[in-house]
Amino acid sequence: MLFEVRCPGCHVLGWCPCAECIEALSDPEPASVPGAESVALLFSHDGVGREFIHALKYRGERAIARWLGESLALAYLAAPSLPARIDTAPSLPARIDTVTWAPTTAAHRRSRGFDQAETLARTTAKALRVRPARLLRRIGSKAQSGAGRAERLHGPSFSGRVRAAGRRILLVDDVLTTGATLRAATAALLDAGAASVHVAACARRGHDGAASVA
Ligand SMILES: [Zn+2]
Repeated sequence: MLFEVRCPGCHVLGWCPCAECIEALSDPEPASVPGAESVALLFSHDGVGREFIHALKYRGERAIARWLGESLALAYLAAPSLPARIDTAPSLPARIDTVTWAPTTAAHRRSRGFDQAETLARTTAKALRVRPARLLRRIGSKAQSGAGRAERLHGPSFSGRVRAAGRRILLVDDVLTTGATLRAATAALLDAGAASVHVAACARRGHDGAASVA
């Protein structure tokens, strides 16, 4: 059987993604996440970048998930920690114990059959040679109607599991829009006693896309 992969950007056969589409990705606007020691972003959520995210999010394509996970791992290792530690040059990347994710809503998980954030956490953890861990619970997303009105108004909220205590955590997600999801998830992990939280997300969606909080 022929194993067929296609680039999600241009649909060329044999590469996922192809070098030309990687080259065509545009740089993300920087973002900060309160409480996180570093924030790594791969590209902006437009053009080819949006195609990459759609292939992950709606089609669950394994090859792009693996490439995104490996890219998040590299971006995390290269991201400067905040505040910059000028006394420890050359600075080594901060060590982490595990990779986790902000779970999507139950409704999204049901309709797609998987959680793209969990897929990313697993591929990122594999690239970093640590075990992924389910450390967050999404609060109030049980309603049949999806995220629900409260979440649309105030953003999602999470609670951290006991196992987060004392751990150095890399939190990953597919898209960062307003940062509300990653901010709430970071706060929940710190509340649960996490030693530190670093953040890595694939695509930065600009303010014109802010109406749909990711
Ligand atoms: Zn391509």
